[in-house]
Amino acid sequence: MGAILKAMVLTTIGSPLEFEERPEPVPGAGQIRVRVEACGVCRTDLHVVDGELPNPKLPLVPGHEIVGIVEALGESVATLALGTRVGVPWLGHTDGTCPYCRNGEENLCDEARFTGYQIDGGYAQYTVADARYAFKLPEVYSDAEAAPLLCAGLIGYRSLKLAGDPHRLGIYGFGAAAHIIAQVARAQSREVYAFTQQGDRQAQDFALSLGAVWVGGSDATPPQALDAAIIFAPVGALVPAALRAVRKGGVVVCGGIHMSDIPSFPYDILWEERVLRSVANLTRADAREFLALAPKLSVKTSVTPMPLAAANEALERLRRGELTGAAVLIATPGA
Ligand SMILES: [Zn+2]
Ligand SMILES: [Zn+2]
Repeated sequence: MGAILKAMVLTTIGSPLEFEERPEPVPGAGQIRVRVEACGVCRTDLHVVDGELPNPKLPLVPGHEIVGIVEALGESVATLALGTRVGVPWLGHTDGTCPYCRNGEENLCDEARFTGYQIDGGYAQYTVADARYAFKLPEVYSDAEAAPLLCAGLIGYRSLKLAGDPHRLGIYGFGAAAHIIAQVARAQSREVYAFTQQGDRQAQDFALSLGAVWVGGSDATPPQALDAAIIFAPVGALVPAALRAVRKGGVVVCGGIHMSDIPSFPYDILWEERVLRSVANLTRADAREFLALAPKLSVKTSVTPMPLAAANEALERLRRGELTGAAVLIATPGA
């Protein structure tokens, strides 16, 4: 008779998560069982719960910013020892053989599977993960502080790399990813221009406290043309706004997995070699690179810890834009 674990489970798209008790998972070959200490709440979780991403596993334990302790090893796991603190991110499986994997683009793998979407995630006391997709975490971060690094940080960082080498960087939507990437950009001597919802003083003050040189509403024109802009808000109308804000040859990166439809726009705002592109997922190389870089650049995360059982409330607060930084679920042994 194994132990029982508590989990927040999506059984029906569009319905609140349900509190469930399940048998403790047993790791298969190549897998680890992780006792979850903290799990970040990401906007992608909202897209999954709302049915904006196709064909999630159901029932599903969401959550892909998992911090925990390796508690059991499946067969042939040699890379991680019992008791190691690890992070488990969104990328949970790749085939290693498709043309993308062979080309170093495993983020685009034809057979990729993702944590908290097609694989049960971290809104639970325990989870099971493929050992090859779990990462040791920098010691300087507490469990809760480390959680947002695993998606907001990693995919934010990939978005920043794909923005080129901008001196003036615009960031649209100042939530969990933006608050991390603004610090990275500042540490790299870039100027950060933060665009928030009209009149969102709290987000604007937060951006200024993290070193933004300018803040404004999402339809504002920055004082100088930007070299690049990253859109983290899931709002398609920001695409033409960002294209208008960047200089000739400037880059606009859409950093989210889902966006509302992009309105039509005149060709002349893309003309003159402006580039519009998306970012999909992450590679393990991105994870290793960013997790080494974040402590070197003294990146700090701003987190709002909440109990696991409050996962629905955390998602609603994220939906309403009421969070500064990132909500992180804490699965204490008792609740
Ligand atoms: Zn592949
Ligand atoms: Zn995420």
